[in-house]
Amino acid sequence: MTAEEVGAGRHRGRFAPTPSGPLHIGSLAAAVASYLDARSRGGEWLVRMEDLDGPRVRPAAEDEILRTLEAAGLGWDGAVMRQSERGEAYRAALEKLREAGLVYPCLCSRREIADSALPGAQGGAPRYPGTCRGRSWREAEGSGGGRGAAWRMRTGDEPVSFDDRLRGAQRSRLEPEAGDFVLRRADGIVSYQLAVVVDDAAQGVTSVVRGADLLDSTFRQIYLQDALGLRRPEYLHIPVVAGEDGEKLSKQTRAHPVRRETLGEALRAALSFLGHAPPEELRGCGVEELLRWAIPAWSVARLPRTDSARMG
Ligand code: GLU
Repeated sequence: MTAEEVGAGRHRGRFAPTPSGPLHIGSLAAAVASYLDARSRGGEWLVRMEDLDGPRVRPAAEDEILRTLEAAGLGWDGAVMRQSERGEAYRAALEKLREAGLVYPCLCSRREIADSALPGAQGGAPRYPGTCRGRSWREAEGSGGGRGAAWRMRTGDEPVSFDDRLRGAQRSRLEPEAGDFVLRRADGIVSYQLAVVVDDAAQGVTSVVRGADLLDSTFRQIYLQDALGLRRPEYLHIPVVAGEDGEKLSKQTRAHPVRRETLGEALRAALSFLGHAPPEELRGCGVEELLRWAIPAWSVARLPRTDSARMG
């Protein structure tokens, strides 16, 4: 499916899991939220596998995730996109940014980056101080044929802002708050930030619904969209499901996978977490019936406004 095939004004949402393990209840909540948001507006819902980060990707995980989505009644439109097959599109975007003078080669080692890092915004991740900003491509190519350099996006002091559909006006100044960020690692792997922006545009995504842990990334993604002349989707950041330690559930922390035999319960729990507890009379119902109720019931106003919460 290409952007040209998007009907004018048609809503299009997406779920973009990293296939590093089976779906857990937190990722199911993100899938359900983006699905309901798209379907309740008569829109399409796409699935994209974010399988760029080789070491984290598990070959069996893609199939597990897709089978679980199917069993949960969350049917997607069109073919599943895989980031591992999108190298050409990422290279074209990187070249465009390089020609515009917005990217520079960074030869800093991990150690140098750690030693020189400046504090990030409000206790956020430390930021790169721009050590290599003045470095030329010729200089980088001289050291290992360019293979040893990471590509960094030059950020500015101008505020980047957007309206989150749940959280309202958001604003950040990238250079002092997040710093220049990597678009392509020294080993050639394209960063999440660049891949998401190129793919959301290529898939004609009009509405991004995902966890609040990615809200900070949205500023970088909007900055990239503007630099590449791409249309900006609307954004809705839902609370993430926290484990007993208060941290976001993730496949890395070995959150329990959602079991296909008890998907009705998992779906009910995800809906309740999202402020859409199904009514009593639907107790014991299957996933199809739960979704039939949830699609027209979906309302952003019912979502909790926290960044994260335990599942009840
Ligand atoms: N692949 C990311 C994740 O699994 C989500 C990216 C997105 O929704 O933009 O956390």
